[in-house]
Formats: sequence, C-alpha cells, structure tokens
Amino acid sequence: MESSGGRAEGSGRGPRVLVVGSGIAGLGAAQRLCRHPAFQQLRVLEATARAGGRIRSERGFGGVVELGAHWIHGPSQGNPVFQLAAKYQLLGEKDLSEENQLIETGGHVGLPSVSYASSGVSVSRELVVEMASLFYSLIDQTREFLHMADAPVPSVGEYLKKEICQHAAGWTEDEETRKLKLAILNSFFNVECCVSGTHSMDLVALAPFGEYTVLPGLDCTFPGGYQGLTNCIMASLPEDVIVFNKPVKTIHWNGSFQEALSPGERFPVLVECEDRTCFPAHHVIITVPLGFLKEHLDTFFEPALPPQKAEAIRKIGFGTSNKIFLEFEEPFWEPDCRHIQVVWEDMSPLEDVTCGLQHVWFKKLIGFFVLPSFASVHVLCGFIAGLESEFMETLSDEEVLLSLTQVLRRVTGNARLPAPRSVLRSCWYSAPYTRGSYSYVAVGSTGDDIDLLAQPLPEEGAKAQLQILFAGEATHRTFYSTTHGALLSGWREADRLIALQDPQAQLPGPWL
Ligand SMILES: Cc1cc2nc3c(=O)[nH]c(=O)nc-3n(C[C@H](O)[C@H](O)[C@H](O)COP(=O)(O)OP(=O)(O)OC[C@H]3O[C@@H](n4cnc5c(N)ncnc54)[C@H](O)[C@@H]3O)c2cc1C
Repeated sequence: MESSGGRAEGSGRGPRVLVVGSGIAGLGAAQRLCRHPAFQQLRVLEATARAGGRIRSERGFGGVVELGAHWIHGPSQGNPVFQLAAKYQLLGEKDLSEENQLIETGGHVGLPSVSYASSGVSVSRELVVEMASLFYSLIDQTREFLHMADAPVPSVGEYLKKEICQHAAGWTEDEETRKLKLAILNSFFNVECCVSGTHSMDLVALAPFGEYTVLPGLDCTFPGGYQGLTNCIMASLPEDVIVFNKPVKTIHWNGSFQEALSPGERFPVLVECEDRTCFPAHHVIITVPLGFLKEHLDTFFEPALPPQKAEAIRKIGFGTSNKIFLEFEEPFWEPDCRHIQVVWEDMSPLEDVTCGLQHVWFKKLIGFFVLPSFASVHVLCGFIAGLESEFMETLSDEEVLLSLTQVLRRVTGNARLPAPRSVLRSCWYSAPYTRGSYSYVAVGSTGDDIDLLAQPLPEEGAKAQLQILFAGEATHRTFYSTTHGALLSGWREADRLIALQDPQAQLPGPWL
C-alpha cells in the first residue's frame, strides 16, 4: 500500500484528522476544525469529483435545478442552514423576512393548486381540502405516542390506515365518492413516503415518529442553487484540504500504525482508499451516507464495529426519494399554479398493490411542483419515493418521458398534450456512494439507535482516544434527513475533537 503525501504530513502541528465525505456534514466539520489553531493537519477525503453530496444543483433548463436537497425546512433563527445561507447572502428578501420565519407549517406539504384524477377530470377542491385536513390531523396525532409506554400499532402507516378505516365507516356519500376520497388519501400517503424517504409508511416506526422536530418558517429555496452554500463553505477552507476522487475502502482502527515520513510517531487509525493509498490519522470523522454504510458494513471497518453499533446501522431506515424534471415548450397549467396533484382513482391506502412495478411505478408519483420559469422555459418537478422510485432509475430517459407523457395526457383528459421537450432526473439509489436518499426511524428502531450510531469509537473506557467519530444526517436524533441535521452533526463532532484538544475552548453547543 502506498502512503499519502502532501499537506497533512509532518508532526508537531496537532493531531492528524481525516474527514470522510464532503457533504454538508463533512464540510461543516472541516470548516470548524480549520478555524481552530490545534487542527492544522486536516484532510477531507471525497469519493466523487465534487463536494456537496446530496446537495447537488445543476445548470439546466436555462436556470438551476436541484437534484438533491430542495428546501431549507423551517428557515428561522434556530436553523443553522438558514443562518449560514443568510450570512452568505444566498436567500431572497422575502425568505429572510420575519414574517416568513414565524409561519408554522407543522411540516405539512401545502395544498395542491389543482388535483387531476386518472379518469381525466379535476377533483373537487372541497374533497381535497377535506381529505388533506383528515390526513394531516392524523399525522399530527401520530406525534402523541412519543412519550407513551405502548404504541397501539408498530408503524405510522398502520395507525393512519386504522384511523382512516374508522372514519370511512362513517362516510355517507355514494360508493364512487367514497372510493375517490380513499384515492385522494392514497396520494397523501405517497407525499408522506417522499417526506420520510421510505417505500411505505408501514415501515416507519410510530412511537418515535414525533421525535423529528419541525422548526418554524415557511420552507424556502436558494435562488442560485443550494450548492451555493456548500461552495461557500468549501471556499473558506484552505485550498488543498479536500482530496477528490478518493473513495475510502476500509478504516483500520484500534491499531498502531507508522509512517515512513514520521518515524517514531504512531497512529491509532489507518484509512485505506480504493486506489490503495493509505492515510494514517489520530481521528477520523465519518460522514458517508447510511445507505453506503449499510451496503459496506462487512468491509468498511477493520476490526468490525461493535455488534450494537452494527445493529443500529442495519435497523435505522434509509429509503429512496427521487425527482423527475420535465421541460415543456408551453405550460399547460394556469399561471398561478404551483403544485399539481395526481390522484389514481383505482388506488386506496387500504389495499395493497399487486401488479408488477413496470405497470404501475408511475402511480407512486405524487404529482408535480411548478418551478419558477427561467426566461421562456417551463419546468415541472415530479417527486417519487420507494421501490417504484428505484425501479424508475432502471429505465431510460426515453421510457420515463414516454410514461409520464401518457400519465399527463390521461389525467388532463387531453390526448394531444404535447410531450415534454426533455427530462432530467435524480437516481440516488444507483449512486454508489449514497445508495438512497435519506434516513428515517424504521419499525424495530428508535431514536436511541440514532444516538448509538453517533457515538464515537472506541467505546467507554478508552473515551479520550476518539479514533472514529460519526456525523451525517442519519446521526441527528431530531433533525435526521435534513441538511440542517447534517450540518449540526458535523459541528457536533468537530466540537468533540476541539474539546478533547482544548478543554478550555468556548463551544457554542450542545448541537441537539
Ligand atoms: C432527492 C433529495 C431531496 C432532498 N430534499 C431535502 C430538502 O428539501 N431539505 C433538506 O433539508 N434535506 C433534503 N434532503 C436531504 C439532504 O440532502 C441530506 O440530509 C444532506 O445533504 C446530507 O448531508 P451529509 O453530509 O450527511 O451526507 P452527503 O451529502 O451524502 O455527503 C456524504 C459524502 O460522502 C461521500 N462518500 C460516500 N462514501 C464515501 C467513501 N467511501 N469515501 C469517501 N467519500 C465517500 C459522498 O460522495 C458524499 O459526498 C434531500 C435529499 C435528497 C436525496
């Protein structure tokens, strides 16, 4: 194995620290460490050719499209992503206003502007409002089981369905309307699957569901792209800190490794990359996505992780949510339309789908958000989660475009609706260094598993060594799945190292 060369070598400049991954967690940790004089030997190893990870903005359709993170959830003073974005002047005036920051959405997605049914008619606004109100009141109820000894059923999905069954028993409308109501509710289940990044709400644990914390503020976007934020953090780091195209293969820990350039010095960790280069270190902050950890659990750590930690990695949920952008010559929607809901009249949350994915994958699509028009370009952004989303990744652009053209023609009742000019989509499940979109607390796991994942190694007894530290969105107990959870987790682990090195340091935490 070759040894690394360059900036981080040399002794007498404090501990040698490696950060694995340059998403917002890794960049946040690196920025914080670089500002402390004790951390002059720092490197970030990134598997791909770019920084930002699941924050990924691309030029497209005459503007910017977000293939990963879309909104700042809860943009208000308690949100560090909002604060940083404001500091770097990346937000619009309205998004910064006090008024926006005070809005309480409860984390619910707003009402659609229009709802199309699969038979080609618009669904009555009244029914949609009634079903949205029922669905979100039930979602709010799920949070009440957090501090109860026993939840009535294991999953959020089962709870919602049980309650919906009871409500449906009291519906007095004709059979067709009752069926339509269930179909509308099914569409809200699909939205919730996108929010939780899961295939089914039956996989999401009920008791800990309320632990996810919603901050105040009306969700906002970055006019110039989310990646402007990670670019700004990156620009604040010394130039050669990030090493790109350096996928880490195995982290050897609890060892005593030497290096030719530093005779006599011993390092407890050795990070081995896929190209066989090796980086000895005193501390390593791992920020790779949970999906990657799940897939490489058997080979990524040597020795293997303690059984409880490995079990937490297996148990915490990590699913797929993707976006499909469609570009149109002319908009077929009204100028004030923001969100188009699609309701499949043959679907019900109370019945399981039995057909093969290739025939029904598009029925999981929640509909489309209308992107602000860039010049004369008109773009819709569809969201789709779960196994259907993973199946979509196996199709070609042409197949996706054809299927969605057929869907749009069918639901608008316009067989001549011009096909979109082009399609662009994310494929997060196929991405080898991500393997999905974001984490959720799955049935069989609790917030304790998240805390367990976040615990540094080695465990108790050898505490002061802090050889391996864990950050990334999946390690934040109350803000998992978000960019602000990821950023806070990076700061948390940087502060842990700073406190070890400099016990007198004034740290702004706790980062909970
Ligand atoms: C489609 C989608 C929509 C989303 N929407 C939102 C949203 O609207 N709002 C929100 O707050 N959040 C959203 N999120 C979630 C948010 O993007 C993530 O929670 C956050 O960006 C995760 O940051 P991270 O640093 O933990 O991980 P990542 O950004 O995934 O960074 C991890 C880095 O590690 C690298 N890596 C992996 N394996 C290795 C290896 N072996 N060696 C070296 N490097 C490696 C990866 O390449 C990556 O750069 C969305 C995510 C997706 C996918």
